[in-house]
Amino acid sequence: MTDQNKTLADMLHLYSRNLVQNDPVSLPLTTSSVYHLRGDVDPEQSHVKDHYGRFGGPVWRAVEAKLSLLEGAPSLLFPSGMAAIAAVFYALLKTGDKVLLPSDGYYTNRALAESYLAPMGIKFEVCETVNMCEVELSSFALILVETPSNPNLDVCDLRRLSQKARQAGAKLVVDNTTMSGLLQRPLDLGADIVLASDTKVAGGHADLLAGHVATRDAKLYEPMREWRKFSGSICGNFDAWLLHRGLETLELRLNRMCENAARLAPLLAAHPAVQFIRYPGHKDDPSYGIAKGQMEGFGFLIGLCLAGEAQAESFLQSCPYIAETTSFGSIHTSGERRARWGDDVAAGFIRLSIGCEPFAPLWDATESSLDDL
Ligand code: PLP
Repeated sequence: MTDQNKTLADMLHLYSRNLVQNDPVSLPLTTSSVYHLRGDVDPEQSHVKDHYGRFGGPVWRAVEAKLSLLEGAPSLLFPSGMAAIAAVFYALLKTGDKVLLPSDGYYTNRALAESYLAPMGIKFEVCETVNMCEVELSSFALILVETPSNPNLDVCDLRRLSQKARQAGAKLVVDNTTMSGLLQRPLDLGADIVLASDTKVAGGHADLLAGHVATRDAKLYEPMREWRKFSGSICGNFDAWLLHRGLETLELRLNRMCENAARLAPLLAAHPAVQFIRYPGHKDDPSYGIAKGQMEGFGFLIGLCLAGEAQAESFLQSCPYIAETTSFGSIHTSGERRARWGDDVAAGFIRLSIGCEPFAPLWDATESSLDDL
């Protein structure tokens, strides 16, 4: 049995292990925002006991316990992936610092840096994911990287980048949304902080918004925990409860999603209507070598390039098993033409997020829609 399998088994039994006679076996959805509190309190210890919903509560604690096992590090829950990223920025950066961001990663990071960090005197520079390791890092306080990047699925070598960041005195933060802690372990590869939008595959059903950060460094963890308390960047109890439930099936869903993606990728690549695909598990893909060395699986995202906007839109509209959405990581296969948001990709480039459908009908429907183009 691998360590990861043991972690998964522990994750499943984490909540029920501590029950006493007649306790409910599933995590109760507690919506209380205040908790019984009598007598003196120690403000320094406000995060240890539940007394007010902005400081903590039983549902969060259960989710964070699972996330901490998954990441192998103390975790903090946030109300979205962007809230997790904002917590890293606002808790750890100060005026005069400089940040390196991916030019081909999630757009909102750059928008946040431009609109709010820059006016506070925190500079930022951008670089393509594939070139991150070539940047001279000595002037940077923090480096944020998404690997594989979204939507192009380019990768960078996290072992190399973390070594360079350490030598330069910069903190390396990895947005692991496209992989989750099951498919890539950034902290084990040398990163200081891992974060993810749990709105995506961790929740897995396109019905919640959440995010988290995890770090083994208390000097980074504590300011982010304080930031959450002071800024009120709090995940609602119902979303947290849904995430707790989603985490219990993460491995099952991911296995099916990754297996479906691995089977679909070569079939898509061979179809005459397809110009090219991006899939890190494809031997000819530029990401393959590094992906194989640092990822535990190749994920569930496939970049699919068709002849142009009209073909891409027609394909998305006609395929009954591809939901047209802007998100990814759900049990339902979904797709979107990323150029509609201004991503630097061809007009016919679709980001496909492969779901949990039985493979045969999924491929039959996909093939038939491609044949009709
Ligand atoms: N990081 C990545 C890679 C994303 O794709 C997204 C959203 O699409 C986010 C972060 C932000 O997550 P959220 O929408 O939960 O704030």
